[in-house]
Amino acid sequence: MIPKTTDVAIVGGGPAGLYLAGRLLQKGISCVVLEKKTETDIHSKSLGIHPVSMELFDEAGISNLFLEEGLKIERGIAFWNRDKIGEISFKTCPEPHQYILAIPQWKTEKILQKWVSEKSTTALVRGADVQSIRQLDDEVSISGMVQNSPFQLSAKFAAGCDGKNSFVRQSLDIPFDGGPYPDYYIMGDFEDNTQFGHDAAVYLHEEGLIESFPMPNGHRRWVVKTDELYQSPILELLHEFVKKRIGHSLRKTKHYMTSCFGVQQHLARTLYSGRIMLTGDAAHVVSPIGGQGMNLGWLGAELCAEQISNAVQDPGKAERHFEKYSITQRKIAKQTARRAEMNMHLGRKESSTAVYKFGVNMMLKPPLSRLMVNLFTMRGLGKWPV
Ligand SMILES: Cc1cc2nc3c(=O)[nH]c(=O)nc-3n(C[C@H](O)[C@H](O)[C@H](O)COP(=O)(O)OP(=O)(O)OC[C@H]3O[C@@H](n4cnc5c(N)ncnc54)[C@H](O)[C@@H]3O)c2cc1C
Repeated sequence: MIPKTTDVAIVGGGPAGLYLAGRLLQKGISCVVLEKKTETDIHSKSLGIHPVSMELFDEAGISNLFLEEGLKIERGIAFWNRDKIGEISFKTCPEPHQYILAIPQWKTEKILQKWVSEKSTTALVRGADVQSIRQLDDEVSISGMVQNSPFQLSAKFAAGCDGKNSFVRQSLDIPFDGGPYPDYYIMGDFEDNTQFGHDAAVYLHEEGLIESFPMPNGHRRWVVKTDELYQSPILELLHEFVKKRIGHSLRKTKHYMTSCFGVQQHLARTLYSGRIMLTGDAAHVVSPIGGQGMNLGWLGAELCAEQISNAVQDPGKAERHFEKYSITQRKIAKQTARRAEMNMHLGRKESSTAVYKFGVNMMLKPPLSRLMVNLFTMRGLGKWPV
């Protein structure tokens, strides 16, 4: 059942919308999350939770929920073609989160969903497709369909957390500046048949990047850079590329999921209009290479919750609070996009020259390695100091 009124209507129950809802409920602000999917999508997208997000989860009191399900990656090993050239240790990160936590996105969403439902049994409504959002003088009016019946909800404020093709952003006519990169990848989750254990491995290869990440339950993710966006046969191509470039065979290994994807970067020109804000991929999309998109969404959702809380206490100054969110988060998103672009650049074929190899070697040794760890783990963005 959808109530008639609430403080905040959240469109979209992905990682950003669910985290925002949990934080608002903790601050005593009522909210309703309208999510059109009836079930969590178990296609695994994001894998890595960075220390900056774990610090947010500490404040929210939910880190343990993730630690129980995730696997700590404490080290990354770098290869040049097939030769090991160095390693990066996340042990140099500030305590206590000296790792990147690997956990499939669907599990992350389930944890957040349970957390929200424990705070309010009515906050998350699945199967609710938002089809109209309008700003009135002192409220936002939202309507759509839930289980074949129309619904209408009035909220003091609203947040569009409805992903990169955001209906909310389009309804507000906010331009989404950016576009695609000429970079394509194949990704697959397999039984782990390597000797890497809990380490990540990154192969900078003259035929294109290969990344290999440990996952919970003895699984391992492989990400392979390709020259084009292949549609099929993806599994066969993944086998071929991994075998040819690094000599590792996945052919007899059980696989759980494969997909291929192109890469884009977008930033909404403003992250609010009137009483409505944009958060998560609805606000910004960065390259998934380096695994920062979902984490960036949580940094934004935290700021957004803070400013909504200010606006609820002081409605006359709501726009000023929302503008603060927009300016700060856009700045963080630009920095993140530059870092994601750098990660992607490292994996391009044309990057493989002797001079370049020398540069990568330098980056893997102190003092530059410390800077690299900070860049990879999203340190030093906005208010989070290096
Ligand atoms: C291959 C791949 C790998 C990635 N790896 C990483 C990684 O390792 N680390 C990382 O940080 N990020 C990663 N990302 C990015 C990450 O997946 C996204 O940034 C994240 O899912 C964004 O969360 P969100 O909540 O903003 O949006 P979404 O996850 O897109 O959720 C939006 C929700 O809104 C709902 N919705 C949409 N329209 C409506 C409507 N009209 N009414 C109601 N509901 C609606 C949708 O059903 C959806 O559930 C990866 C992405 C890809 C593609």
